[in-house]
Amino acid sequence: MSDDAQRWKAKYLENLEEQEKLERRWDARLDLLRRGLVRSSLAAEGTDKAVDLCMQELREIIRGEQMDAGLSALIPRLEKAVLDSEQRRQQRAEQSVGALAALAGRLLELDLPREVRKGLKQFAKRIDERARQPRELPALLAELGMLQGQALEAIARVDPSAPRPGLLQRLFGAREEIPADAAPVGQPAAAVTSTVAEGPEPFPAAEPPVPVPVPPAPMPATPASAPRSSTLDSLPLAASLITGEGDPDYALPSVPEPGYSAIAPHVAASLRALLDELDLPEHHQPQADALRQRLQGGLNWYELVPVLDDFGVLVLAITGNGQREFVGYLKQLNQRLALFLEHLTAAQEGYAESLDSARALDDQLREQVSGLQASVQDASDLDDLKRSLERRLDGLLQTLDRFHRQRSSREHEVGERLQALMARVSTMEVEARAFQEDLELQRQKALQDPLTGLPNRAAWNERLEIERARQQRYGGDLSLAVVDIDHFKRINDSFGHLAGDKVLKIIAGELARRLRKTDFIARFGGEEFVLLLPSTPLDGGRQLLEALRTDIEACPFHFKGERVAITFSAGLTPMLPGEPGDAAFQRADEALYRAKHQGRNRIEPAPASDEVSRAV
Ligand code: GH3
Ligand code: MG
Ligand code: MG
Repeated sequence: MSDDAQRWKAKYLENLEEQEKLERRWDARLDLLRRGLVRSSLAAEGTDKAVDLCMQELREIIRGEQMDAGLSALIPRLEKAVLDSEQRRQQRAEQSVGALAALAGRLLELDLPREVRKGLKQFAKRIDERARQPRELPALLAELGMLQGQALEAIARVDPSAPRPGLLQRLFGAREEIPADAAPVGQPAAAVTSTVAEGPEPFPAAEPPVPVPVPPAPMPATPASAPRSSTLDSLPLAASLITGEGDPDYALPSVPEPGYSAIAPHVAASLRALLDELDLPEHHQPQADALRQRLQGGLNWYELVPVLDDFGVLVLAITGNGQREFVGYLKQLNQRLALFLEHLTAAQEGYAESLDSARALDDQLREQVSGLQASVQDASDLDDLKRSLERRLDGLLQTLDRFHRQRSSREHEVGERLQALMARVSTMEVEARAFQEDLELQRQKALQDPLTGLPNRAAWNERLEIERARQQRYGGDLSLAVVDIDHFKRINDSFGHLAGDKVLKIIAGELARRLRKTDFIARFGGEEFVLLLPSTPLDGGRQLLEALRTDIEACPFHFKGERVAITFSAGLTPMLPGEPGDAAFQRADEALYRAKHQGRNRIEPAPASDEVSRAV
């Protein structure tokens, strides 16, 4: 080789080595990048569901073979998910800023010493800039808690003996409790009314006021019961109150507390019950336990928002998990089906093979039998014939033996495969059934109102469509009613939310109990119920609702042995075939509005006008 050629060769080898080094470095970098991406995607999880899904997909792409194509399809979606998530984060930040500013504002409305006011003002000034950083929120809340503590102390210091309203009442404007001795037993109602100047509108005002019945014995002076009885005495509740012990089923719980604390245990209990209901995966248990512990000692009003936020995060994580679990199940099912197909193909191949081997046996037998024939013809003496016959017969037996062995091993194999297939199919069936049952359970839960157990608004929409379609197809009458409890806010304000809830539960039960099987009732929201009455003309519907109205009015609700009359008003309308559901609903709702205006505790029918009838 010439010098020139040697030089070129050396140069070529050098370049080759360089190239390999570069390739190795490039592979190492790619590997590093891959690992970095996987770690970052894991770290980025947990803030947003859509981003989480993209991150999951990203990891799968990185682990797979088609990285380029996968990444170029994913990146635009990831960009969009990140932008959306950022937008949502900003909205949440706005809400935090608003809530904190409102709280600080309410504290500033109090009569506070200068140094506390100054601290609060400085805090309020920086909320906007700090609350936008999620990591600042705990510090901000702690600071606000401290400032609020100072405000509380300052208020308590001003004059501990003076009967000033508490902080909660002043913040939320709830009614102040009146000491037992402020309303001496037997004092006329009017004289006491003035002491509840900040209280809610008196309960109920529909009937003429009569003197307030006086409890037979002096009330115990404990703060738990005395203030409430004084407050109650002051209300013109008398018209609907009759003394007596009453049916315990209709007894309204006596929780004489200011606004928030009246519902706090209820909120905590509902959240605890919700936590118990949640189907939590193992790794979310510590979060749930921590929440349970925070709920244990009750909830202060300033703990409520962070607890609800954490609860929300947990619920979102679980819903995401549920979806992921379902997606996982589908993937698993897919894999199993692929395996299933593989087994079937193998079984088919086995069958084809056994056909081939039967054919081969046939050939071999023919060959040996013709060999036998030839041996018989060629044999020169008897001994020779005997030997050759024995050899041939041995060969034949061996062939048959081999064939049998092969066939039984193949049959065994196919049998095992079939068993595995059957086991797999039954597992798949069990799993599919469990998923189906779970889905049905979720569906039922999603259609039920948890407080009253009645169908909820979503269930109402479903049923309305079914009844509408039935009416359009077969004709006939169909009436729709909207029922609303009268002065329900006063029930809450006077007896607490727990009592309000109990009233809702009882009324829902009474209404549902008195309806026909074909009728349908749902809780539309708050203290409103909706009824669908198939095969019922307007007049029939009116009679039914009148009967319901008098039944509810006669329910012996009582508070501490004193009767509380609770009534409802309703609007009723016939649904016309082909008419949109919301048009009939609006007609019934307008009728309800008229019933309220005409004094409540009444049923207002709304016949469809000729115009409407012509239009449908
Ligand atoms: P009206 O006779 O005009 O219907 O007066 P109202 O007080 O019944 O009506 P309003 O709409 O002013 O008040 C309804 C109240 O119902 C307000 C809300 O606090 C209360 N409420 C709604 N849902 C529930 C609930 O689930 N439990 C309890 N305890 N109260 C509820
Ligand atoms: Mg209402
Ligand atoms: Mg109402």
